[in-house]
Amino acid sequence: MAVVGAGMAAARFAQQLAEHGADAEVTLYGGEPVGPYNRALVADVLTGLHRPADLALPTGEARVRTGNEVVALDVAGRTLRLADGSEEPYDELVLATGANPVLPPLRGLFGPRGGLRPGLHALRSLADCARIAADAATARRAVVIGGGVLGVSAARALAACGLPVEIVHQGPHLLERHLDEQAAAAVRDTLAGLGVTTYAGNRARALDGAELDGAELDGAGRVAGVRLASGYRLDADLVVLACGVRPRTGLAHGAGLPVRYGVQVDDTLACAPHTYALGDCAEHRGITHGLAAPAWEQADVLAARLSGADPGARFTGTRTLARLSAGPVQYAAFGEHAAGPGVDVLRLGDATRGTYKKLLLRGDRLLGGVLVGDLGTAGTLGRAWLDDRPAGPDPLSLLVAPPAYAVRQ
Ligand SMILES: Cc1cc2nc3c(=O)[nH]c(=O)nc-3n(C[C@H](O)[C@H](O)[C@H](O)COP(=O)(O)OP(=O)(O)OC[C@H]3O[C@@H](n4cnc5c(N)ncnc54)[C@H](O)[C@@H]3O)c2cc1C
Repeated sequence: MAVVGAGMAAARFAQQLAEHGADAEVTLYGGEPVGPYNRALVADVLTGLHRPADLALPTGEARVRTGNEVVALDVAGRTLRLADGSEEPYDELVLATGANPVLPPLRGLFGPRGGLRPGLHALRSLADCARIAADAATARRAVVIGGGVLGVSAARALAACGLPVEIVHQGPHLLERHLDEQAAAAVRDTLAGLGVTTYAGNRARALDGAELDGAELDGAGRVAGVRLASGYRLDADLVVLACGVRPRTGLAHGAGLPVRYGVQVDDTLACAPHTYALGDCAEHRGITHGLAAPAWEQADVLAARLSGADPGARFTGTRTLARLSAGPVQYAAFGEHAAGPGVDVLRLGDATRGTYKKLLLRGDRLLGGVLVGDLGTAGTLGRAWLDDRPAGPDPLSLLVAPPAYAVRQ
C-alpha cells in the first residue's frame, strides 16, 4: 500500500493500521527531508518551546521514504514515479498530500529568481520555520499578512523571538471565521501586551523592495516594507504570509482523478478504484477542512476499512472545535456565533485578565460557544456540544466551574 505524503494524516493512518494489526506492507512517500511531525506545533519551534525532533509522529510499522517527491501516478497501471526517476508499484493508493500556503496577489512578492523575495516567508513546514528563525535573528521589525489562526500564531511566535510585530488583516477583526468581535478584541489586546499591533480592515497591496514605479527600491531585493491599500506603509525586514491554504492537488489532477477544490472523495474516502484521499488535500461533501482533527478522523475511518477491522466504516463529516493555544494567546470556539430568534446568549468578560466567554443556547441545547484566555472548561463544553447533550440547569457554571471530573481526580 502506498501513501503519498508523509504528514499528519499519513502518520495517523499508518499508526492506526498497525493498531488494527493489518498485515499490509505500507510505504509513506514524503517530499520533506524529515518524517511525519505535528505541523500544528511548528510555531512553537520558533518560540523555542519545542525542538523539531519533539514534534515527530509515530508511523506504526510503515516504511517512510523522505526527501523524494512523488511526481506522477499511473492509477490504471497502479504505479507511481518518484522525483529520482524510480517507479514503484502499489495495490492501494492513499493521497495525503496536504495543502500549500496561499500566496496573495501582491506586487513585489517574488525576487529576481522567481522565488519569494528574501525576507518573505510562508509558515507551513519545519524548513519554513528554520528559515524564519534564521531571518528573525537579524531582523528589526516583522509584519504578518493575515489575521487568521495561522497569522495569529505566527505573530505570537515572532514576538516571542523579540521582534515588534504588526498584523495586517483584511477582515473586520482578527479570526472572524471563529470569533465574534468582542472575543477577537480580547485576543488583539493579549497580542498587544506581547508587542503585536493589529491593523484589521486593512489590505496589503505591495511589498517594498519591489519594482514599484519601475524602480528597484531596495537594491538587495530584500523586503523592506509593506504598503497597504489605505496608503499606509509599514516598515518590515521580515514578512510572513498567512493568507490561508489551498489543497495540494496537482498530482491527483495530473492523474485524472476527480479534483474540484480538493480531491473529491465519497464517504469511504475513495476517489477512484483502489485510490483514496485524506486530510487537507481531500474534499468531502464539498468541504475541505484544513484542520488536524478531521484529518485524523478520516485516517481512522480509512484504516478501519482497509485493515478489515471495520470494512463498513464511513466518514460522514465532522463537527470541529477550533482551538489555539499559543502561550497566553488561547481560544476555543465551536458551533454558531450569531444570536437569532429563540437563542439565549450568556457572556462573561474580564478585561483585566484578558478573558471573554460566550455561550449560545436554544432551550438547554448548546448551539455554540467561544472561550478566550481561559480554556479551563473548553473540553467539557466541546464534548457537550459534540454529543448534543443538555447544558443542565445552570449553564453559566459551564463557563466558570472546573469540569466535574477534574474535581474528582
Ligand atoms: C503553522 C500551522 C499551525 C497549525 N495549527 C493547527 C491547529 O492549531 N489545529 C489544527 O487542527 N490544525 C492546525 N494546522 C493545520 C494542520 O497542520 C493540518 O490540518 C494537517 O497538517 C493536515 O495533515 P495532512 O497530512 O493532510 O497534511 P500535511 O501535514 O501538510 O502533510 C502533507 C505532506 O505531504 C507532502 N507531500 C505533498 N505532495 C507530495 C508529493 N507529491 N510527494 C511526496 N510528498 C508530498 C508534503 O510535503 C507534506 O509533508 C496548522 C498548520 C500550520 C501550518
